[in-house]
Amino acid sequence: MAKLSLTTRYRHGSRRPAPRAAHSASSKQWRRKIAASRFGPREQQALFAGLRKGLSLTQAAKPVDMTANAVYGRARWDEEFRDRLEAVLDETCPGGEWCGTATGAKRGGHCLACRRAHHPPRQSR
Ligand SMILES: [Zn+2]
Repeated sequence: MAKLSLTTRYRHGSRRPAPRAAHSASSKQWRRKIAASRFGPREQQALFAGLRKGLSLTQAAKPVDMTANAVYGRARWDEEFRDRLEAVLDETCPGGEWCGTATGAKRGGHCLACRRAHHPPRQSR
């Protein structure tokens, strides 16, 4: 009998660590492929154009069928997108003279410095 691949063993009910990890990796890859096709370069440019017009991230994300959380989620695993997004958020931050402070964040500041001031990174435990 031919040796089954780890993902096939998972599909056939095996929940041992290796098949489980292989299934998890392959379904993550599948989900990201779909995400990449739904939010490709054209949609990303539209998002950035909206931000440059002065829209908030939530407002700019809506016409391209995204939410602010989905945009940040994409930025967590897509480094290229993250770099371009952070550059645009930085250049369009409405925090003004309060940029980088909690007040800037409360006034809609959306750059990394404003977000960090509003939600400091958690202490490692
Ligand atoms: Zn800012």
